[in-house]
This record gives sequence, C-alpha cells and structure tokens, in this order.
Amino acid sequence: MTHDLTLISGAGAVPAPTDVFIAQHLINGAWVSSASGQTFDRFSPANGQLVTQATLGGEAEVEAAIAAARTAFDDRRWSDTSGKERATFLLKVADLIDANRSRIALYETMESGKPIAQAEAEIEGAADIWRFAASLARTIHGDSHNTLGPDMLGVVLKEPIGVVSMITPWNFPFLIVSQKLPFALAAGCTAVIKPSELTSATTVILGQHLIEAGLPAGVVNIVLGYGDPVGTNLTNHPDVDMVSFTGSTAVGKAIVAATSKTLKKVSLELGGKNPQVIFPDADLDEAADAIVFGIYFNAGQCCNSGSRIIVHHDIAAVLIRKIVELSRKVPFGDPLNPSTKVGAIISSQHQAKIDGYVKEAVMAGATVAIGGAPLTIDGMSGEFYQPTVVANVTKNMAIASEEVFGPVLSVLTFTTFDEALEIANGGDYGLSAGVWSQDISTCLKFARRVQAGTVWTNTWMDGFAELPFGGAKESGLGRELGHHGMDEYLETKTVQMRIGKTRSRWV
Ligand code: NAD
Repeated sequence: MTHDLTLISGAGAVPAPTDVFIAQHLINGAWVSSASGQTFDRFSPANGQLVTQATLGGEAEVEAAIAAARTAFDDRRWSDTSGKERATFLLKVADLIDANRSRIALYETMESGKPIAQAEAEIEGAADIWRFAASLARTIHGDSHNTLGPDMLGVVLKEPIGVVSMITPWNFPFLIVSQKLPFALAAGCTAVIKPSELTSATTVILGQHLIEAGLPAGVVNIVLGYGDPVGTNLTNHPDVDMVSFTGSTAVGKAIVAATSKTLKKVSLELGGKNPQVIFPDADLDEAADAIVFGIYFNAGQCCNSGSRIIVHHDIAAVLIRKIVELSRKVPFGDPLNPSTKVGAIISSQHQAKIDGYVKEAVMAGATVAIGGAPLTIDGMSGEFYQPTVVANVTKNMAIASEEVFGPVLSVLTFTTFDEALEIANGGDYGLSAGVWSQDISTCLKFARRVQAGTVWTNTWMDGFAELPFGGAKESGLGRELGHHGMDEYLETKTVQMRIGKTRSRWV
C-alpha cells in the first residue's frame, strides 16, 4: 500500500540537461581521452536518461597522471607557494563553486538520483569547506626547541606529504572530494583523483574550475574509470605517497593490503551502521523527526545514515507510531522537483540488495511497520524504495549490523543503559552514534562509552567544517575536516641545527 505516502512526480521539476556531458581525464593541465577510445555511460537512476559519457581510463592514463603529479610535486611548483597564495587560490575556487552551484547541483542530481534541493545545499556546503581550508592554509607551522643547549636549535617542520591518490564514492561525489582536495592543496600536496564510475561529471566540473582559478598544470589530475584498473593502480603505484579513500569497508581493506607493499600513508572513510539510543525521558517528537531525517536523507545511501535505533522498551510503541506517521509525510519522488526530499536508489542491483535485507529480516521474525517494498513514482522509470521501518529486529539479524544503504530503519529495544550500550557497540562499525535524553549526564555517559568517531546528543547529522569527522573500528582510519583534515596531508621533519663549531669530535 503506497497511497498514504507523499509522492512527488515531474510537474514543477527543473529542466534536465539537453546535452550529454562529455567527461575527459585531466592530466598535466590538459583534457584528454583515453588512447583506447573506449567510453562508459552513466544513465540517470531516476528516469534512465543518458547523462554522461566518460572516457574509460586504464593503466596508461593512471601512469601519465601520477607522473604529472609527481613532477609537479618534485619541482615544487605548488609546495613552494606561500600560505597566502594557496589561500587566495582556494578562495577563488570557492567563489567559482558558488557561481556555478546550479550547474554542479544539476549534474550531481542527474547522476546520483539525489533531490535537487539537497544537491544545491551540498554544493553550498562544499564551497564553505573550500573557504575553511583556505583559512587553514596560512596556519601551517611546526615547533622550535630552544632549550637543547646554547649551541643547538631544534626545529620541527611541517611539510606536504607528496602525491596523494584520492578515490571517492557515488553518494556525495562533490562534497567528499571537497573534504579531501582543498586540505591537501592547503598542505602543499599534489593529487590524482578517481571519482566513482557512477558519478564522474561533477569532479570533472571541479577540474574546470581549478584551471579557471589558475592552478598550475599537473598539481591536480583526474582519471575516470573503474576500481580496477584505475583505483588499484592508484593504490599500488610506488610514486604515490598517500591514499585518501572514501567508500566501502571491503574496498578499504583491499586498499590497506595494496598499499602495504610500498607502505604509503592511508586515510580511510568507510561504512557505518550508526545507532541512536532513545531513553524514556527523551523529547520523542524531536527524536522522531531526527530519526526520520537520519534514515531517509539521501534515500539512506549515506555512511552516516541513522540506520538503527535502540529504543527503551517502555516507549518503543509510541515512538514507532510517531516515526511511521512522519514517514508518510516525507516527499519521495522525482529528484528534479524542488519539493522532493528523497530521490532514487543508485541502481537496480542496489535496490534488490535493499529489498533482500528487508525480506530476510521478515523471514527471521521482524515485522514491517511501514513500507518494505519498491516504490513506483508516476512518470519515472527508475528505482525508488518505500520509506521502511522494520520493528522487532534482534541483534543477530543481518539488518541489525550490516549497511543496508537504503531508506530502511531497524528498530531494536533495551531496558538498561548497559544493554543499550552493548547493542550500540556491537558489530564491526564505529562511524557515528546518537543519544536522546533530557538528562545531560546520561548523554555524556553514553558519549564517553560509545565506540564512534562522532556522537550526536539530542540531534542527528549536524556537520561543521571546523569539526573532525571519521570512524573508529572498521569505519576508518584518520580524520577529515577541522585542522585534523589538513594535518593528515602533512609530514613531520625534525631539523637539529648546531650553531657554531661546538660539536665534540668522536674520533
Ligand atoms: P565502493 O567502495 O564500492 O567504491 C568507492 C570507490 O572505490 C569508487 O570510486 C570505486 O570505483 C573505487 N574502487 C572499487 N574497488 C577498488 C579497488 N580495489 N581499489 C581502489 N579503488 C576501488 O563504495 P561506493 O559503493 O561507491 O560507496 C558506498 C560506500 O561508501 C558505503 O560503504 C559508505 O558507507 C561509504 N561511505 C563512507 C563515507 C565516510 O565518510 N565514512 C562517506 C560516503 C560513503
């Protein structure tokens, strides 16, 4: 039954692009196609329209891009610039992102199926991150040690780590590259970027703005294509100093194995199965709204998805009722309609995977409070999934511990604080967690004990460029954003300076 949901069709939608976006590699300052002449297509997951035709990268293109980034790093054309020059450049890029927000958002929506209003907000947020990174570019400094004796000075320098491979996923293509690249550039690094094969366009548009803002050739390169061979070669290559990856935990582990051969630095932003614990004294209306936001935002295809709630037994029925009522009001539908809050699922294979998790949970004894099936939107041929709440979930079910990556909320219950904490800390992930209680000591106790990189108390998924983000356990290594975001791209060098000929001879 879907007639009591809020469904949005095409009327009032912003126009789709009329031309196919032709995406090329950016190598050493030039836009190039692969010598093989092969291309790959991206169709809108909402309506099947051909959006992008991209040149298909292989080993040769990765080799050329890494060589360009290596030369640009080694000849110091970027790392010798002052903090002021880097900041000025990053601010120019932020202005260009703002000026081109509608175009970037349109391609982000066409390729990913996310709502256009959300895409616009993400591009605005991305420009803010570029500005924040600009503010950091002028703050890089090390330490001095002036107490090593009258004839010695110890200086600790912070230097760019070198050539960075950046590999990004399809769910927030522009935002995620903006959590990496401006920080690496602020630090003085050079880069080769591989966007997801499903979402090449907006990284290419970013490349156009980098050139427009005056970035020297070779400092940032983009290679389009699949995980194998483009991603694998970007992680194996001896001339790469660091890999910054956002994506699934399975690929993250493969990258750690690949980089171990050359011992590169690795930074990983991986998956999550993020719990929110709701205590009986919580404001249930506030919690219900945030839970609905947390699970349906980006159709649940979000590392930070609040995909499982752990609710006190005494309030479970009333909270589920509130969540179900709100679920009916969330506008699902045509991503190009500005009223839509939840768009399409990325692919039909992924839709089948989401549905499989729900069916398996029901077979194991869970109950569906709302949804639980694919959704049809008038005039849209793509994949959509109903807002879904699965109750009576137990911790041994796959839906309780694995990333469903769809608009599917799992509801578990508890009676004591320790039981809630044990369920929250169960499983392999440790990205984010939340707690709802009007007692600040309950919130603080939970925040201190939960294993997660980010904890939200009485809120969900707020984000600030100033605050570091990343995962504990199998949700990642390292941090993005905040000053930590730039520190990841800096190497420490110790310089011991003897002043005068005071060194006592050994022989
Ligand atoms: P994915 O791991 O399948 O792919 C991510 C990127 O890695 C793509 O560009 C892909 O082409 C590339 N890749 C694939 N195999 C590779 C290999 N062997 N070597 C190198 N690169 C390879 O992930 P996805 O499906 O694009 O994205 C969804 C996943 O990303 C989810 O697990 C989600 O939780 C995670 N994610 C995490 C964060 C975070 O900040 N923690 C943010 C967004 C998404």
